[in-house]
Amino acid sequence: AKEKGRNNFQFFTAELNALITQRLELENKLRRALERQQFELHYQPRIDMQSRKIVAAEALIRWQVSEHEIVPPSRFIPIAEEIGLIAPIGKWVLRTACEQNKAWQDAGIPPFVMSVNVSARQFRQENFVQIVADVLRETALDACYLEIELTESAVMHDAEQFIAMLGELNDLGVQIALDDFGTGYSSLSYLKRLPVDRLKVDRSFVQDIATDADDATIVRTIVALGHNLGLKVVAEGVENEQQLEFLRDNQCDELQGYYFAKPMSASDFAHAVFGSTE
Ligand code: C2E
Ligand code: CA
Ligand code: CA
Ligand code: CA
Repeated sequence: AKEKGRNNFQFFTAELNALITQRLELENKLRRALERQQFELHYQPRIDMQSRKIVAAEALIRWQVSEHEIVPPSRFIPIAEEIGLIAPIGKWVLRTACEQNKAWQDAGIPPFVMSVNVSARQFRQENFVQIVADVLRETALDACYLEIELTESAVMHDAEQFIAMLGELNDLGVQIALDDFGTGYSSLSYLKRLPVDRLKVDRSFVQDIATDADDATIVRTIVALGHNLGLKVVAEGVENEQQLEFLRDNQCDELQGYYFAKPMSASDFAHAVFGSTE
C-alpha cells in the first residue's frame, strides 16, 4: 500500500507540474496576444419578439492563437482577470465593438444597439465610466447604441459605489443589461434601485423551458419581475421552436440564440444580416 501511495504521489506531482507549465504558457501567450492582434470579435444578433427584427448584436471575443487553435473566452477571460490583463483587453473590445457599430451605421444599415460584456474586475476599475465616455467620443458612436452587459455578481458588492457608477453610465445615455440573470442573488429591493434597462435570463433556465416545470416557473417569474420594474427581458440560448413558443406565450421581449443565428465574424454578420459583402 505504501508503494502504491508513493507512486500516486509522484503521478500527482507530475500532473500538477504539467498543469502549472500549461498555465504559465497560456499566460505568456495571452500577454502577447494583444500586440499580435490575435483577438477578434464575433457578433450574435438579438431579435425583437414582436417585429422579429434585429434590435441588437452582442459582441463576443475570440482568441485565435494559431491557424488551428481558437481559445474560448470561458478559458482565458478568468485568467486575464487574474493577471491584470482584463483592463486593456476590455478596452480593446469596447473600442472595436463601437467602431464596428459606427461603421455599419455609416454604411447605411438600420441602426441597432451593440451589447458589450464587461467583467466584474473590469467594471471595478476606477476610471471605467471615463473609458466608456472616451471610447464613445473617439468612435463618434451615439451612446444610445451602446449597451453594457454586467453580471449580477459584478454589481452586488459595494452596492452604493456601483449604483453610482451605473447612474453615471445611464447619464451618458448608455444602456445597461444584467447578464446571466437568475444565477446570482440580487435582492429585490436592491434590484429596484439599479438603473438598468434589461434582464438577460440565463441560458440554463431557457434550455429545458418547454419540459421542466421549475424552469418554466423561473422564467415566467423573471419576466413578470422585469416588467413590474419597467425593464425589458431578454432570453439567451434560444435553440428551438418550443422554447420560442413558450417565450412568446409568456411575453418575453427579446431573443438571442442559435435558433436565429450563432455568433459570426463581422463580415459574416454583415453578409447574413444585411446581405452586404463588406
Ligand atoms: P455570455 O455573456 O453569457 O454569452 C453567451 C454565450 O452563449 C456565448 O458564448 C454565446 O456564443 C453562447 N450562445 C449564444 N447562443 C447560444 C445558444 O443558442 N446555445 C448555446 N449553447 N450557446 C449559445 P461564448 O462566446 O463562448 O462566451 C462565453 C462567455 O465568455 C460569455 O457568456 C461572457 O461571459 C464571456 N465573454 C465573451 N466575450 C467577452 C468579452 O468581450 N468580454 C468579457 N469580459 N467577457 C466575455
Ligand atoms: Ca453576455
Ligand atoms: Ca449570459
Ligand atoms: Ca455567462
